[in-house]
Amino acid sequence: MPDLSRRVFLGRLGRASFAVAVLGIAACGDDDASPGDDGAASPATSSPPAADPPATQVPTTTLEQPAEPTTATTEAVAAGVEWQRVSLGFVSAYVLVRGGEAAVVDTGVSGSADDIEAGLGGLGLGWDDVGHVILTHLHGDHIGSVEDVMDRAADAAGYAGEADIPSIPAPRPLVPVGDGDRVFDLDIIATPGHTPGHISVHDPVGGILVAGDALIGEGGGVVGPSAQFSDDMPTALESARKLGALEFEIALFGHGDPVLTGASGLVAALFSD
Ligand SMILES: [Zn+2]
Repeated sequence: MPDLSRRVFLGRLGRASFAVAVLGIAACGDDDASPGDDGAASPATSSPPAADPPATQVPTTTLEQPAEPTTATTEAVAAGVEWQRVSLGFVSAYVLVRGGEAAVVDTGVSGSADDIEAGLGGLGLGWDDVGHVILTHLHGDHIGSVEDVMDRAADAAGYAGEADIPSIPAPRPLVPVGDGDRVFDLDIIATPGHTPGHISVHDPVGGILVAGDALIGEGGGVVGPSAQFSDDMPTALESARKLGALEFEIALFGHGDPVLTGASGLVAALFSD
């Protein structure tokens, strides 16, 4: 029953995502996740959608007891990432987890490594579990702790957009990535403009976008990149429009609160006129 399997998986992922978003790992029983096929049906406004009708949602208790072999559940979990926000004041880093391995996206300002370590610990992980450090762009509030983080995550490979790499003081060479590249089974999306080498990270299976500063979370919704802090605003807006053409329920930003449902529809709506 592949359909059921997928639905169960999305439900599980959505619930887990919500749980970590409120910095609690325990199940919260919330049914905030939308069915996985409504990404294009989001309201054309920047405000969050009203509560979902529960009728089509599989009850949480059912999700914990899928009538399928354990191997099916294992495959489903391996197909998408769970995430945790590491809130560092005005900026956030993120930990993405799949199968007991983690990717850290951005490192906050200088002195943020302990907070990222706490974020890993909250997921039962440590630095040895970090295989990837992905840097969305060269700004100091995103790469300020890259040296500490990559020193502690001694086995991790580091990645950034090629044009930004010369400005990032990483302790080991970074792998240049852009459109068409995959890291940790995540799609890298080139989103230049805010900086020349800005990248975003898309999990098409889990329906998650980590936007860096290509988008900003504001008022429970999303707005475009900052005109004040972007190098090339027309290019930055083109990149934001490009993100709106992807499919994702959840958007995670360098600045501002995550959007947990219908996120790609909200981004696309910024450019509908
Ligand atoms: Zn920035």
